[in-house]
Amino acid sequence: MEIISVHPRGYCQGVARAIRIAYETVQKHPGEPVTMLGMIVHNAHVVKACEDLGIRCLEDPRRTRLELLDDIDSGIVILTAHGVSDAVYEKARAKGLQIVDATCPDVARTHDLVKQHVRTGDVLYIGKPHHPEAEGVVGLSERVHLISRPEDLEKLGPLSQVLITNQTTLSKLDVQDLVRACLQKYPDAEVADEICQATSVRQQAVLDLKDVDLLIVVGDPHSNNSNQLRELGARAGIPRALLIGDAQELDPRELRQVSRVAVTSGSSTPTALTEQVLSALHTYAETGSWIIPDLPQDPLL
Ligand code: SF4
Repeated sequence: MEIISVHPRGYCQGVARAIRIAYETVQKHPGEPVTMLGMIVHNAHVVKACEDLGIRCLEDPRRTRLELLDDIDSGIVILTAHGVSDAVYEKARAKGLQIVDATCPDVARTHDLVKQHVRTGDVLYIGKPHHPEAEGVVGLSERVHLISRPEDLEKLGPLSQVLITNQTTLSKLDVQDLVRACLQKYPDAEVADEICQATSVRQQAVLDLKDVDLLIVVGDPHSNNSNQLRELGARAGIPRALLIGDAQELDPRELRQVSRVAVTSGSSTPTALTEQVLSALHTYAETGSWIIPDLPQDPLL
């Protein structure tokens, strides 16, 4: 069995920065209550490592970031890489919380673009419903309209000076399809592609794979960019694509009859988890035994 280690993969700058900010916050404020507003990034291992540092992680997919703030009464609140609307900053300040902002600079740039545009026009924002990044952008103005499927356009009437933009971690192929649908209804709209560089190069590396019969994406099931990599694998013609959280989730029976397996990971996946999967695969290819090596002491590094 040939094992292809796909590059680039794993942590992007925005995620690495958010994790560093969380670590530094705890070091600088010993004894103070620190709460993360949502999962710092969508990876259970990273969330657990933050909890081990003493950070309380507030997450409930049925509640918005604004609503989750009701559960924080004092101390420091860390805003995650996904960004939040202005209403969340205002509410946190009104509650007297100290804000530590780990919003990814790429997401912040989308916020600036949208805020600037809604002064004079409307925004069609291609994003995933209930995803925190989409929640943050849609919450910026009533002139931002979330589009997650072509049918969402049907309820919209005439709009002025339309800008079409998108969530940073979507599949570039899905975004292209939805941009076409938006342009059919609003042919004069301006388009600003906001898929971030990290997402784009990781997706292209999967689309460029040739003669692979199994793609393994190491990533959390909540991670949008990890799910997109798996779906792109299928669209790139790879017969099977699996999303696994870590090596324990890979059943070696999946490897029977596989001659070329490619391994990649989402931008919120710690490198150590992907290295562990690769190492187990190499051992399996050489010996036929499925042996999972231990993770390093600090799996986030
Ligand atoms: S995937 Fe892109 S937008 Fe998201 S944190 Fe990473 S660099 Fe930022």
